[in-house]
Amino acid sequence: MKTAICPGSFDPVTRGHIDIIKRAAKLFDKVVVVVMMNFNKRDSYFTASERVELLKRSLKDTTNVEVDMYSGLLAEYADKVGACAVVKGLRAVSDFEYEFQMALTNQKLNPDFETVFLTAKAEHMFLSSSVVKQVCEFGGDISEFIPEETSEDIIKRIKERKQSL
Ligand code: ADP
Repeated sequence: MKTAICPGSFDPVTRGHIDIIKRAAKLFDKVVVVVMMNFNKRDSYFTASERVELLKRSLKDTTNVEVDMYSGLLAEYADKVGACAVVKGLRAVSDFEYEFQMALTNQKLNPDFETVFLTAKAEHMFLSSSVVKQVCEFGGDISEFIPEETSEDIIKRIKERKQSL
């Protein structure tokens, strides 16, 4: 059985993330989406458990996808769950340099662990969690950017956070 992991901060999940995860789920027997808790803990809008819950809700109809959280090296996590590959979405050339560096690092740490890049859908090229937060904070409509099942909770949290600053 071939397992892949889709890591990210998912703060919060967007339709761009879901597209990559669902496409990965067609290529692999099992996909583990993993909320990485390494960075920006204090700056996060959603706790790791909340991000896991929002992902689970968005992916409830995709049977071969699991959602987990982890703090540590991705190559170690891949070993832990028996994954042979990491699947990443590439939006633009700007993503490439960082992703290429990460891919080479993971290859060094575990030569059997492959990185697979999927190109973002054209309509998601501009989309990131930061864009979602910025647009919502300034009163814009983000319902098209995030999974429908999550939109009420995501919009509520971003607005609450803005008010508390
Ligand atoms: P963000 O940049 O939105 O904060 P993450 O760090 O959570 O995203 O990203 C997790 C993975 O999802 C990365 O591989 C990233 O390239 C991919 N990704 C993020 N947004 C998109 C998008 N709009 N289309 C395709 N892939 C995306």
